[in-house]
Amino acid sequence: LRRWEVWYVAGGSAHVALLGVFCLAAFALTDDPFARLASFSITTAYLVGTPGRSFASDLLVNAQIVSAGIPMLASLMIAGPAYWFIILFVLLPFLLALKTISTRLRGIFMSAVLRARDLSHLANRFDTALNNMPQGLAMFEPDGQITVSNERLLSLLQLPPEALNDGVTFDTLLNTCTQTGMVEQISAADLSQNLRMNLNVSPRGEWILNMADGRSVAFKLQAIDSGGGVILAEDVTERIRAQASISYLARYDSLTDLPNRHSFREHVQGVLNSARLLSAALMFIDLDQFKQVNDTLGHVLGDKLLWSVSQRLRLVIGPAGMVARFGGDEFVIFQDFYDAREDAAQLASLLIQQMSEPFDIEEHKLVIGASIGIALTPDEGGNVDDLLRDADLALYRAKAEGRGTFRFFEGQMQVQARARRDIEKDLRDALAHNELELHYQPIYDLSAKRYMVCEALIRWKHPQRGMIPPSEFIPIAEEMGLIWEIGSWVLHQACRECANWPPDVNVAVNISAMQFRRGNVMTPVRQALREAGLKPNRLEVEITESALLQDLNTTRLVLHQLRDIGVGVSLDDFGTGYSSLSYLQSLPFNKVKIDRSFLQGLDRDSRALTLLRGITRLSIDLGMSVVMEGVETAEQLALVADAAQVSEVQGYFFSRPLPADQLLLLLRRQTKSLVA
Ligand code: C2E
Ligand code: MG
Ligand code: MG
Repeated sequence: LRRWEVWYVAGGSAHVALLGVFCLAAFALTDDPFARLASFSITTAYLVGTPGRSFASDLLVNAQIVSAGIPMLASLMIAGPAYWFIILFVLLPFLLALKTISTRLRGIFMSAVLRARDLSHLANRFDTALNNMPQGLAMFEPDGQITVSNERLLSLLQLPPEALNDGVTFDTLLNTCTQTGMVEQISAADLSQNLRMNLNVSPRGEWILNMADGRSVAFKLQAIDSGGGVILAEDVTERIRAQASISYLARYDSLTDLPNRHSFREHVQGVLNSARLLSAALMFIDLDQFKQVNDTLGHVLGDKLLWSVSQRLRLVIGPAGMVARFGGDEFVIFQDFYDAREDAAQLASLLIQQMSEPFDIEEHKLVIGASIGIALTPDEGGNVDDLLRDADLALYRAKAEGRGTFRFFEGQMQVQARARRDIEKDLRDALAHNELELHYQPIYDLSAKRYMVCEALIRWKHPQRGMIPPSEFIPIAEEMGLIWEIGSWVLHQACRECANWPPDVNVAVNISAMQFRRGNVMTPVRQALREAGLKPNRLEVEITESALLQDLNTTRLVLHQLRDIGVGVSLDDFGTGYSSLSYLQSLPFNKVKIDRSFLQGLDRDSRALTLLRGITRLSIDLGMSVVMEGVETAEQLALVADAAQVSEVQGYFFSRPLPADQLLLLLRRQTKSLVA
């Protein structure tokens, strides 16, 4: 372009210069006025067109003015002083005007060109922005015609570019969508009505259009002050899916796909609130042995078992009731019955039977069971939380009564639960507040004719409730995990006390089954003996059959360790549990303490006596001595002493459990009388 400009300038200037020379020749070589006038006028006329033709090039304008102006000036100079006047007042201003007009024209032209360029830049940028935004956009006039839109809008609606003809409205676009089958007619109509109605409402909402291909597109509307508005469209499929899955997760248990606690509560409360009379039951189901399966075979298998359980429950309940999982191995059922008490009992039996059938899971035949607590809906109204609490209490009772069974809620369960909660609350502090104390019950040795062992029995002197017997708080201490602390306190206290007694009187201490299960009975026993300076053979440990049931191997190991250091071991409450004779044979007991329930009916029934005789005979043959518990009368004593070879007797007939100081007096008296 630059090179061409040079050529163009050179040619253009040469052309004008020729006219100038023509002018000069007419003035210099002739006196012909026509020649002079013609040449001068032609050159001037030609020059007049210069700004129009050549304003764009400053160089060309200058070159032409100079190349014509100089010969013209020279011509007039030659023509004589009369023409100089023309030079001054016509020719010079004319040339100057040419130059000024050209410069001005170029300025106007340049700014127009630059503005056009800027505009097209702006338009390009706007286009890029419009077509690269994630939303589809349509801007429309008050009459509905779309004036600006982007490609994204077309791709969201799956429309071809032709769909956006001049004068198209948003409604027409939606119509095309219904024709292609991408949008249902009714949803399209709904959307366009919503958009129209909400144009002048604020705040405007968001409207979702469900497309035939499963996508969801959200539309938003923004009114423009000068009329018309902007519609923004966005693909919200993921968001809608996430919302759906969040609300599913919030309502269903992910492992079993059963409703969870939240939706169960909502459903049941809804039913309870409905005015109709209900005869429904809420059942709390707890799987027996599930924890063992989980612990021994792992969580993956445990999860599969829970899934199978949920399937079985669903099958039994069917569409008639609602089954939910509350987490862990807790399932809940709510069902409306014709006669709730009778039908629920039947259903519970069926469920327990179904849950006891083996589950086949990955080559394992898993046998579990279920306990069920049932709460019936009140005659009117009712609260789901109360029902849940009642069913839970009933479940607690069912479990306590041996599992694999069901119980209905009864009012007094709540009273008991409250009392229990109170005990739990206070028991934590009982040790720290010195509220626990030991009483001692002497055990009479029939052959030595004196007391040779005293059993330590714990008591809780509650500041408000008075004396609480161990049967009421030991099971709670076991459940709360306080039994280790309490048990070791009992050992220390009993050994310390025994150290004050005559050296031939031993102390017997009850050890809970839970203490054995942890397997660390030895540590507190050794510590207690060492601290009290007591010989191990003055301590006897009593355990009940239930301790043996828990974990026979650990218990056997601990019993042997106790025997090894010289501590005596007694089997307590024999005859109340499984009374398996094999325990007597396989475990290293020194003594068997026969439970006082054996004495009931002993006077009259000779069969009971035969049984007692058999047990004592067997025990003695196995190298154990026999203690008879709970002897209250002289007749009982006579029977026991004569008929069976019982070596020791314990019971109110001899002495009730006594506080430490009273027992000490009793033992001193005994020593004195012996000496005497
Ligand atoms: P146990 O070891 O069989 O204790 C004997 C229970 O029978 C004691 O009840 C005693 O008071 C009672 N008894 C004794 N002679 C007679 C009698 O002639 N007639 C009647 N009706 N009862 C008699 P207690 O003190 O209420 O203890 C109950 C159970 O609590 C004990 O049974 C024992 O298993 C447990 N226990 C007591 N103290 C402790 C302890 O320190 N630790 C643990 N783990 N358990 C304890
Ligand atoms: Mg005992
Ligand atoms: Mg006993």
